[in-house]
Amino acid sequence: AVSVQGLSKTFGKKQALCDISLDVAPGEMVALIGASGSGKSTLIRHIAGLERGTGAPCCIDVFGKRLQEAGKLTREAREIRREVGVIFQQFNLVNRLPVLTNVLIGHLGRIPAWRGTLGFFSREEKQAAMASLARVSIDETARQRSSTLSGGQQQRAAIARALVQGARLLLADEPIASLDPASAKRVMETLAEINRQDGITVVVSLHQVEYARRYCPRTVALRDGVIAYDGPSTALTPAFLRELYGEASEELI
Ligand code: ATP
Ligand code: MG
Repeated sequence: AVSVQGLSKTFGKKQALCDISLDVAPGEMVALIGASGSGKSTLIRHIAGLERGTGAPCCIDVFGKRLQEAGKLTREAREIRREVGVIFQQFNLVNRLPVLTNVLIGHLGRIPAWRGTLGFFSREEKQAAMASLARVSIDETARQRSSTLSGGQQQRAAIARALVQGARLLLADEPIASLDPASAKRVMETLAEINRQDGITVVVSLHQVEYARRYCPRTVALRDGVIAYDGPSTALTPAFLRELYGEASEELI
């Protein structure tokens, strides 16, 4: 689903990513871990086509189509973005709009400039949006303003929107970082379910390794912009993790 080759990124003098190569097969669910500043968000933003790598020879392919090459987004980038759902730690929804409208926005594949009204969408589109809200078990919130949802419900609404969008790849950047353990568990279960049932490829960055172990068969660990580990999540050793996280390790592993 994703092929990254030789990706480097510098911000000024800071090298955020250094010669990253990574392949993710269709249907995989992969965790991305690493200390703060190790490059998780930067890598996700590149795969999402939101950031361009620093020069040659880097290239990123998504579902066999070239997304970017040598620091430039390709003509296909816009088309590819439709197949990619992106979820961040916060602020995934337009707060003033009802939950259902936020999910319907998935049909457009982008946040529209107009002040959204439900009338804009067809009956079929509304039914599809309601069905995807039911998939993530929050259909009873459809008419609520998005700002009234709990953090976990907001993340599940964002997942429903990705389903409506027809995303085949879901990139989630610390989607559970600001949630309590019970909500975090439900969001991870929802991701695992759409991965298993719909075959949607999931790449999820996580702060706590425990969730990677429990939900993701494969983990990629970044250290200072370099891949320090890529393999089964169950094979991550306490010694490696202590070294990866340094002083912060106790609460994370
Ligand atoms: P966290 O766990 O705190 O979210 P992260 O692993 O997601 O960290 P990134 O946000 O990818 O880390 O940042 C990697 C490095 O790149 C950091 O040193 C960061 O300061 C730097 N960086 C990221 N974005 C920018 C930017 N827009 N301008 C300058 N430096 C940046
Ligand atoms: Mg980050």
